[in-house]
Amino acid sequence: MNNLLITSNNINIPGVKAIFTTRMDGDRKDSLKGFNLSFINGVEEKSIIENRSYLASLLGVNLDSLILPIQRHTDKISVIKDSTFRSSIEADAIITSMRGIVLGVLVADCVPILVYDSASGVVSAIHAGWRGTASGIIKKVLAVMNKKFNTSTANTIISIGPSIRWCCYEVDPDVLKAVEKETGNLKEYSKGKDNGKYRMDLALANQIQATSLGASNIWISEECTYCNPEKFYSHRYYKGLTGRQGGFIGII
Ligand SMILES: [Zn+2]
Repeated sequence: MNNLLITSNNINIPGVKAIFTTRMDGDRKDSLKGFNLSFINGVEEKSIIENRSYLASLLGVNLDSLILPIQRHTDKISVIKDSTFRSSIEADAIITSMRGIVLGVLVADCVPILVYDSASGVVSAIHAGWRGTASGIIKKVLAVMNKKFNTSTANTIISIGPSIRWCCYEVDPDVLKAVEKETGNLKEYSKGKDNGKYRMDLALANQIQATSLGASNIWISEECTYCNPEKFYSHRYYKGLTGRQGGFIGII
C-alpha cells in the first residue's frame, strides 16, 4: 500500500490532507486493474466503492464526505457551502471552506490540481484537461477564492499532480493555439513535429497561468502518466479504455 498515495510536496500542513492516488499494483496489460476510482468503462461497481471507501478511511472521513463532482471538461466551478454536496454536482472545480469533507477530482492524463489558502482555510480541487486549461479554469478558481473568501493569491499554495507531460502529449496546432491564447506563448515548451502536431505540457501551462496572477508556491509532480502506465491510468496510453486516479484535498 506504500505506493498508493503521493503526498503533495508543498501542501504539507498538519490537519490538511492533500494527496494524489496511483493505480498502485497496476498491470500494463490490464488497463482497468488496480486502485481504480471511477465507475466508467463497465467496471464492477462494488470494487470501485471498496476502493473509494478505503481511500476515505485513509483520509479520515466517511465515504459520503468524499466529494467527487461529475466532470465535463468545462470551466464550471462549484462552491460547496452546506450539506447539498450530498447530491451530485456537475463541475470541473470545487471549492470549500467546510471542515470534515474531502474534495476530489478524477483523472487519467488530465491535470489534477489542489489549492490551499491558509489564511482563509479554503481548499479547491481542479480537473484541468486541455479544454479546462484553455478556458483558464485555475485562474477562475483563484478569482472566485479571492472574491468569495478574500484570499490573496500570493499566499495560496498550489499542488499539481501527475499528468501527461510534454514528453508524450502531442496535440493539433489548434489545441496548442487555444491553450496559448489563455496562457501566453508555450513555444518554449512545445516542439513542432514532422507530422504537423505539437507537444504541450498542461501542468506547466497551469503553473504559468497561476503565476500570472501572483501565485509563487507551486509544486508540480515530475511524473508523466503516459510514461508510467503501471503506476497511473493513462487515457492516451490505453486508448480510452482505462480507470481513473485522483487528487484529493480537505481540512479534517
Ligand atoms: Zn511522458
